Amino acid sequence: MKLIIASNNKHKVYEIKKILQDKFEEILSLKEAGISHETVEDGNTFMENARKKAKEICDISGCAALADDSGICVDALFGAPGIYSARFSGGSDLDNNKFLIEKLKGEENRKAHYTCAVCLCYPDGRTVEALGYMYGKVVDEARGTHGFGYDPHFVPDGYSLTVAELSDEEKNRISHRADALKKLLEKL
Ligand code: IMP
Repeated sequence: MKLIIASNNKHKVYEIKKILQDKFEEILSLKEAGISHETVEDGNTFMENARKKAKEICDISGCAALADDSGICVDALFGAPGIYSARFSGGSDLDNNKFLIEKLKGEENRKAHYTCAVCLCYPDGRTVEALGYMYGKVVDEARGTHGFGYDPHFVPDGYSLTVAELSDEEKNRISHRADALKKLLEKL
């Protein structure tokens, strides 16, 4: 069966393809499938947004579609930025990171976790969903060049390196996205 990933984020697409490659004959990003569509992410939870993205792409393409909605939740900020992670500062990833570090100035509690909701919609209306997590802490200094988003500032529990300093393979072993996708796979 063909699967369309409801995303053009090349990092997300890479991570999802790596984990699901044995389960589907062909896995395509939106761009690779020739679909130009922007879902309005107006849900109140990661899962509501993932569900909406997957359903819209499934309806448009007539193929199975998988969507991921994810973000970072910071304890000292009462779970913010959460579902607003991509638009926290209103600017680029770099601006978001600077904004986060600014907000945590003088704050001792650096605990945070990434959350990932994945939803897989089939053309016959079936849906399969799962949530995944990666726990750790936010560090002031940006380190590393791998990954994306908040990765240069996030150190997973049990590590001294930031996610951006880990190899792509290592991130894909421990990430919130990997956790969610493994749980999804168990349900297929
Ligand atoms: P989405 O594309 O609407 O799900 O927004 C995801 C946002 O959450 C990204 O723009 C990042 O800011 C953040 N995020 C989600 N997953 C990751 C990750 O694996 N590493 C770093 N940042 C992430």
